[in-house]
Amino acid sequence: MTDSGPLGFATRAIHTGQEPDPTTGAVIPPLYATSTYAQDGVGGLRKGFEYSRTGNPTRTALEQCLAALEGGRFGRAFASGMAATDTALRSLLRPGDHLVIPNDTYGGTFRLIDKVLSQWGVEHTPVAISDVDAVRAAIRPNTKLVWVETPTNPLLTIADIALLADATRDASVTLVVDNTFASPYLQNPLELGADVVMHSTTKYLGGHSDLIGGALVTSDEELDTKFAFLQNGSGAVPSPFDAWLTLRSLKTLQVRMEKHSDNAEAVAQALSAHPKVERVLYPGLPEHPGHETAAKQMRRFGGMVSFLVKGGEQAALDVCARTNVFTLAESLGGVESLIEHPGRMTHASVAGTELEVPASLVRISVGLEDADDLIADLSQALA
Ligand SMILES: *Cc1c(COP(=O)(O)O)cnc(C)c1O
Repeated sequence: MTDSGPLGFATRAIHTGQEPDPTTGAVIPPLYATSTYAQDGVGGLRKGFEYSRTGNPTRTALEQCLAALEGGRFGRAFASGMAATDTALRSLLRPGDHLVIPNDTYGGTFRLIDKVLSQWGVEHTPVAISDVDAVRAAIRPNTKLVWVETPTNPLLTIADIALLADATRDASVTLVVDNTFASPYLQNPLELGADVVMHSTTKYLGGHSDLIGGALVTSDEELDTKFAFLQNGSGAVPSPFDAWLTLRSLKTLQVRMEKHSDNAEAVAQALSAHPKVERVLYPGLPEHPGHETAAKQMRRFGGMVSFLVKGGEQAALDVCARTNVFTLAESLGGVESLIEHPGRMTHASVAGTELEVPASLVRISVGLEDADDLIADLSQALA
């Protein structure tokens, strides 16, 4: 079942790239724990597989499924979201090139660009990514790439992907969207005009906080050839087991994202009404500045909520310390609810830069527990 065109999202998630095993009839594609493949004479590959850094059947199944879910022609899986990001950036940028990034980019992405790529003469300009005119103004003659996250981590800012695609197309610049927070069930950047989608599959795609992975999806064969070259050349590939686990998780992505969205909407509303909360950042709330754009390009608003606590940093740290159902931990997108303080945890790498996040900010990843329990837990932590 590789013709993904007319099939619905859930059908693609469950079947694309995952035919029953031709030798045994196993309904689930086997976990091919092998590094190499017997050849029929020198160069006589039986099914195109030669060495598992270059290709592995379990990974291929995952790559085909991920491509289908994003409506793309080609998918590449990586050992982490950062490995996928690194591959995209090093495939598309050369010394002397310039890229535009959100002024609240994921901390790890910013660190890679600011601390590593800069050593190779690649320049960057952070901009308010929700402001398309600011993005147009930041594009220079040597700009090769606009990197976008939407919603952003941790401020849940919304960028208008279709408008950004117009701006980058006019300037012959590649548009890459980090679609980690939305997942392909809620948002498909390629259909809105982006050139490449990047995922940290560690988050909603994996969905159970038990693996680290990343992906790149595109419909541009030339770009995919570059990604494949560096995927093999640098070798930051996922293990067959992680590929297998991710495939298993994709089958329930749709039902998980529906419930994450239900629970996050309920939690965001309850937090908005709480006297100790200064402001809730959730694109599903009508007062969120990106609400209209989010409603236009997303199926629903997802499971991530951030909020500013009255009383500054100490008050925010206290809330993080007092929850019982929410676990204090980094990461997001799993079935269990997590809480964290971005300023001291996930986004400590941007402290002191123009990307620094507010000290009173708390970020929650709303899981699949009962919404009433989640709301009660946050209420007692804020009390
Ligand atoms: C986690 C994350 C990444 C990095 O992915 P890893 O799998 O941790 O390497 C990139 N972008 C966003 C938005 C993330 O949340």
